[in-house]
Amino acid sequence: MTRPARMHDVTDETRHIVDLVLNYSRQRLLTDDNPLDKPLPPAELARLAGVTINEKGIGAQKALGVFEHVLAPACITTDDPRYLSFIPSAPSKAAAAFDLVVSASALYGGSWLEGAGAVHAENEVLRWLAGEFGLPATAGGVFVQGGTLGNLSALVAARETARERGIRPDRWRVVCSAEAHSSIASAARVMDVEVVTVAPDAGGVLHGDAVRTALEEHGDSVFAVVATAGSTNFGIVDDIASVAEVTRELGVWLHVDGAYGLAAALSPEARHYFAGLEHADSLIVDPHKWLFAPFDACALLYRDPELGRRAHTQHAEYLDTLTETSDWSPSDFAAHLTRRARGLPLWFSLATYGAEVYREAITASITLAEQIAAEIESRDELELVRRPQLSVVVFERRGWDKADYTTWSNRLLDDQHAFVTPSSHGGRTNARFAILNPRTRFEDLVGILNTMG
Ligand SMILES: *Cc1c(COP(=O)(O)O)cnc(C)c1O
Repeated sequence: MTRPARMHDVTDETRHIVDLVLNYSRQRLLTDDNPLDKPLPPAELARLAGVTINEKGIGAQKALGVFEHVLAPACITTDDPRYLSFIPSAPSKAAAAFDLVVSASALYGGSWLEGAGAVHAENEVLRWLAGEFGLPATAGGVFVQGGTLGNLSALVAARETARERGIRPDRWRVVCSAEAHSSIASAARVMDVEVVTVAPDAGGVLHGDAVRTALEEHGDSVFAVVATAGSTNFGIVDDIASVAEVTRELGVWLHVDGAYGLAAALSPEARHYFAGLEHADSLIVDPHKWLFAPFDACALLYRDPELGRRAHTQHAEYLDTLTETSDWSPSDFAAHLTRRARGLPLWFSLATYGAEVYREAITASITLAEQIAAEIESRDELELVRRPQLSVVVFERRGWDKADYTTWSNRLLDDQHAFVTPSSHGGRTNARFAILNPRTRFEDLVGILNTMG
């Protein structure tokens, strides 16, 4: 049997497929009034989509039709300016477009041997970020899939470093705020270590004195302290400077989880919140959140990348040719091996537009959060839960219970008006705007407040 040529050769069919896909992508990238869309029940979706996989294929035109008319409309448009739940996505046009190039070029981002050019560009971005954050020029790391994997990889390196110092506690511990992200607990489960949560102050800020108490209680069983640079629920930044003072004095690794909020360190208006960041032993920030890159990318940085490499390099006979050199191979710096050069869309976008417009876009969202917070305070029926620091605004509608918030939220989505899911704090349900899309306007937010009358 001769090899089938259909899938890999450049034929008329191939040209047709590529044109279809690029035309669709082009149109999607150049449209800014896509509907918000919403999920469908599984049975309805199955009925509408039909069977698409069989022995002979249904052809690109039909498959793309199913995607365009059935599947895509069942996916919420995460870059819609009125998507305000969780953490929205807002890839720049250059970043989103360049993601196509990353795929088209079959780049491999795991090793210097295979992907030196891509790795060079990713490293330029990482070095630039390190400089913005006050880390030394020798800092380095890797773009991983997301903040969860970034936090895990940093904490594994932290524990490995404590182990190398000869520490052998019965149980390893990591200290973080009670308001730290759930991915810290997830990492601890994977690592089989204990999380010691420390109470932040009433405003949600973790301080060094509380960390000191925990470290004194648990001694050198604590291999890392995690400070949160922008909590996901409130966008509140821990008092990194006072935490760093304690970790430096006691010789404990400081990891800064800035998956959402650390992007704000690029804004001259917000830089002051991150004082002390320069003392981090490791940190993360997700470009797929507030650095306008497409899913999925987390920048993981180590002050001393050698510690990351020692903790994570995989050794195998077939990999010896990669690991027996001093080449910079991104695979060596996290719990992964094969990797997409997922830092490149951010590289291309930064190179295209320059850093200034990033600073302006981030600052604009912080300003918008302040403006809508003031509007909320001016309305009798609404109450701010906390004054925003960055770009998350959390508020309550007086007299509403959980069911009221749920009904309201469902109606907003059913009407294709906005996507705002309820959140909660201290057992009380609330509404939450996570604002980072530069296309979100004050009027969009006021329009949503008006539906809570
Ligand atoms: C989003 C977030 C994470 C997790 O990042 P993923 O990319 O979703 O895995 C971790 N920490 C904080 C503070 C976050 O906001």
